[in-house]
Amino acid sequence: HLSKRLAAVANFVPDGARLADIGSDHAYLPANLLLNNQISFAIAGEVAPGPLDNVKSEIQRHRLNDRLIPRLADGLAAVETDDLIDTVVIAGMGGRLICQILTDGHLETHRYHRLVLQPNIDIDLVRLWLSENGYQLVDESVIVDEGHYYEILVAEPGNIAYSARELQFGPYHLTEPSQAWQEKWQREAARIKSIMKNIEAADKTQTEAYQSYKQELQMIMEALV
Ligand code: SAM
Repeated sequence: HLSKRLAAVANFVPDGARLADIGSDHAYLPANLLLNNQISFAIAGEVAPGPLDNVKSEIQRHRLNDRLIPRLADGLAAVETDDLIDTVVIAGMGGRLICQILTDGHLETHRYHRLVLQPNIDIDLVRLWLSENGYQLVDESVIVDEGHYYEILVAEPGNIAYSARELQFGPYHLTEPSQAWQEKWQREAARIKSIMKNIEAADKTQTEAYQSYKQELQMIMEALV
C-alpha cells in the first residue's frame, strides 16, 4: 500500500517499464509496481547502507529477488547498460539534489524514455535542468497528501525553452490549473501577505525585502487568474 504521494508518482510509470528508482529507501514504489505486474524489472538505487538494508528487507518480504535489484551507488551510477532501463524515478528529495544526480549521470548521447521526478522544493530548477538537457515536460501534477503539497514532473526527450513564469509555475498548470495547484499557490500568496503585513506594521515598506515580496505576490496573483 503506497502513500498518496508515491501512488501519484507510480501512476506516471509506463506499463512494462524497466525502472530505476534512485534514492529508493524502502523500495515501496518499485515493489508495488512489480507486485501489481505493472512493470517487470527494477533497480532500487541507494547511496546509504541503512536505506539499502530497507530495500533488501522489502525484496525478501515479497520474494522479488529476480526482479528487483538493490544497488549501493551514488545516483544514476546504480544503472548499468545491461539493465536496459528506460524509466527513472527520483522522488522525495530537494530539487537541487535531483539536478545534481541528473547532471552526474547525464550523457550527451543518451536520454531515458521517461523521467518521473518529485522534487520537494526548488521545482523551478528541475524544470530548467530538463529544458537545458534535452528533455521536455509531458505532464505535471500537484497532489495534496496529509496537508503537504507535492509536485510531480514527467519528462521525455525533446527540446523546449520555458519562460520564467513557466519555470516557476509549470507550463501545464498555467494552461490547465488544477485545484491542488491553485491551493498550493493561494497558500503561498497568503504566507507572503502575512509577512508583508508584519513589514508594514514595522514601517519598513521601503526595504528591498518588502519590494521583492510585493513582486513575488504580484507574480503569483497573475498566475492564479
Ligand atoms: N524515494 C523515496 C520516496 O520518495 O519516498 C525515498 C525518499 S528519501 C526522503 C531520500 C532517499 O534518497 C534517502 O534514502 C537517501 O539515502 C537517498 N539519496 C540521497 N542522495 C542520494 C544519491 N545521491 N544517490 C542515491 N540515493 C540518494
